[in-house]
Amino acid sequence: MLQGIGASQGYGIGKAVIIEDVTLDYSAVRYAGAEEEKARLARAVEAFTAETNEMIASLKQSAGEKEAEILEGHLTMLADPFMLSQMNDLIDGGAVAESAADTVCTMFYDMFAGVEDEMMRQRASDVKDVKDSLLRILLGVRTVDIGALPAGTVLVAKDLTPSMTSRIRKENVAAIITEVGGVTSHSAILARAMGIPAALSVKDATTILADGEEVIVDGFKGKVFPRPSEKEAEEYREKQAAYLKEKEGLKSFFGKATVTRSGAVKHVYGNIGKAEDAQNVLQNGGEGIGLFRTEFLFMDRDHAPTEEEQFEAYATVARLMAGKEVIIRTLDVGGDKAIDYLAIDKEENPFLGHRAIRYCLDNPELYKVQLRALLRASAVGNIKIMLPLVTTVEEVVAAKAMLKECMDELKAEGAAFREAPVGVMIETPSAALISDLLAKEAAFFSIGTNDLTGYTMAVDRGNAKVSHLYKAEQPAVLRAIEMTIKNAKAAGIMVGMCGEAAADPNLIPKLVEWGLDEFSVTPSSILQTRKNICECE
Ligand code: PEP
Ligand code: MG
Repeated sequence: MLQGIGASQGYGIGKAVIIEDVTLDYSAVRYAGAEEEKARLARAVEAFTAETNEMIASLKQSAGEKEAEILEGHLTMLADPFMLSQMNDLIDGGAVAESAADTVCTMFYDMFAGVEDEMMRQRASDVKDVKDSLLRILLGVRTVDIGALPAGTVLVAKDLTPSMTSRIRKENVAAIITEVGGVTSHSAILARAMGIPAALSVKDATTILADGEEVIVDGFKGKVFPRPSEKEAEEYREKQAAYLKEKEGLKSFFGKATVTRSGAVKHVYGNIGKAEDAQNVLQNGGEGIGLFRTEFLFMDRDHAPTEEEQFEAYATVARLMAGKEVIIRTLDVGGDKAIDYLAIDKEENPFLGHRAIRYCLDNPELYKVQLRALLRASAVGNIKIMLPLVTTVEEVVAAKAMLKECMDELKAEGAAFREAPVGVMIETPSAALISDLLAKEAAFFSIGTNDLTGYTMAVDRGNAKVSHLYKAEQPAVLRAIEMTIKNAKAAGIMVGMCGEAAADPNLIPKLVEWGLDEFSVTPSSILQTRKNICECE
């Protein structure tokens, strides 16, 4: 089994077609004089423009307007008079058209590849794509005709450029495997837009896999099974059939507004633990992110993530969600969420101890790094900040004061940021009981029924002997939920739920009746939850 990054959901079973890198060696090309070389370059640019326009038209049909914009970007790049005049200058200096195109594009490539910003780095792969196309046209090199691949093809390539992707006929491609790229790379965006399962960053895939051999791709987990055994093939055929059946049934709810029978508009969001999970939310029809559990960024490492690392994670999600709401919860550490290097003292009752907002407010040097990263990332998207395990109004006031300090610092530094609204998680009985008071300080509420159930029922969810008490349907928990919603409504603030109960079909009618605005659930439950809500009165 080969492990990569699951970049587009679904299971693909088929035969591998390896896309080899073609050689674009132009060392044998002789200089034909400045005029002729410039004319060759101009003809190549013209052919490239015609080819790209054709691809844009077909991409608009197969993937959508937004995806076609990537290729439109290629045209804009070459239309830049500066780029062309630089190529012509090199030709005047004795370079063949190929060398001129190569040198100038490589210069732009190096410029984009060297920057921190991931979106800018993506531009580097666009420039490489333009360069390769120009060289291919100038040299008259033929490539594998991606548009004519047989049905059931698993496309295997080092990288999948937007121009290659545009030629894919989705009914013929069962899955995509590449050696590079992540969830925000263009190939991932395009694969998702076409609904083709994809595993990216699969090391040495083009050498390990051979043309024509059977391969299975798990686009959820990024797993690739070359030459699967009959047992593996059977298992994945079953998974695929179950997935497709389920997906088909819920498809009519994709892209649909979440509206009850009586016309109340609701929203179904997704819960995530890693920046990459945001794509799962979109693929499953989520209208936003209702809970980003940032503690996962702090786990499985030996020191806290830097402001830059955190900024990158939050900004990635904000960009992927493209204006949709992204609710990011600040570090929820302690209790069942241990992070060794934070050296939280061993406690008799960790669930009632120095955890979450309590720990963060006492460790401003750690908390402010996160708050600064959140404020900066808010400048690139629709981010809201959420405070975990709140029990008093003072905690909210203190967190907001710390946020203000961070804003003052960022302003003084001239850094780009936006003041993000601050909301409160209602996951303790005290927060529910004072939700009228908290509503005066909070921009929104999100009910965390996982903890609210435990704390309200005084039950440890890990203890089997008392597990019958751990139920959000318990009247005490329901009263806490109802009270919270009522107080949010009275104050005119948005109220959502991000605990597991938000996806509970037995609870949804009650939550709708009480007026819950937003339901944030595991990405794979989004469409089912929307269906359940739409069936409510
Ligand atoms: C909750 O407590 O309901 C919640 C969503 O937070 P977590 O499960 O991360 O504690
Ligand atoms: Mg919780």
